Amino acid sequence: MVRYLAGIALILGLAACQTDSPAASEGDGATASVSSQNSGDTRIAKELFGHVSSSSPLPPASYGGYARGCQAGAEQLPESGPTWQAMRLSRGRNWAQPVTVSFIEDLSAFAATQPGWAGLYVGDMSQPRGGPMLTGHASHQTGLDMDIWMLPPSRLNLTRDERESLSSIDMQRAGGAYVNSSWTPQHEAILRHAAEDPRVARIFVFGGAKVEMCRNATGNRDWLRKIRPWWGHNYHFHVRLNCPASSAGCEPQDPPPPGDGCEDAEAWVDMILHPPPPDPNPPPPRGPLTMAELPGQCAAVLTAN
Ligand SMILES: [Zn+2]
Repeated sequence: MVRYLAGIALILGLAACQTDSPAASEGDGATASVSSQNSGDTRIAKELFGHVSSSSPLPPASYGGYARGCQAGAEQLPESGPTWQAMRLSRGRNWAQPVTVSFIEDLSAFAATQPGWAGLYVGDMSQPRGGPMLTGHASHQTGLDMDIWMLPPSRLNLTRDERESLSSIDMQRAGGAYVNSSWTPQHEAILRHAAEDPRVARIFVFGGAKVEMCRNATGNRDWLRKIRPWWGHNYHFHVRLNCPASSAGCEPQDPPPPGDGCEDAEAWVDMILHPPPPDPNPPPPRGPLTMAELPGQCAAVLTAN
């Protein structure tokens, strides 16, 4: 138990310096293969990928890990669909692999069956060619991660401007130890539906939400294994898909530990309520990824025209 708590303390330390980055302790496939194609390329990858506004004219593929990779042949999620709207269009992050776009079509159709939900408001996915971003996420690099707003959409005719100004809603209290009164059975139904989808590898949500779902779950509990407590994720939840079978260069993450993860979630919440002292020797912050640290294929993805 002491060792386990020490591990949690380490996680706390790592989490503090990253935004929306379920990568550090959750394993980001950081062993990305480095090919000779871009070895020695010390250019900062986010400065390159962060300024590309079109996808690559290549077959769809994810390369590397969720927090160290890129995507070829990305699709743009239509700005509005029958059961969704993409938010914050100015960010240019509504790009993903085809499997991700299909998943959003399906999950939002399910969400639209829930009382009070016209569908889903979709937050950040990936950049047109994936890769590291100038701001925000450490992951979301391979076209397989997506953020879904917690705000139940009352309508799906938001203008472009409204999609910039509207905010999602906070679902937590006590720093994420508990859900607040905005939490509904519909949130749980949508999260459960997502977790039961075989395309999904993990879902990140604040700790109090996982504990709440553990308490309320009826019947089969296998799906709870994929619901992972993480910092943030109280205005949105983050869905991460498995590597598509067709993407040979995509690096999967280790599956979540066996079991429903409910005891771990209780420990996570306990850590929120009783935070350990800060790590006196925190690991040095990681510098920005260079092109040499990405899979070799990402150099080709970046320049394909
Ligand atoms: Zn995310």
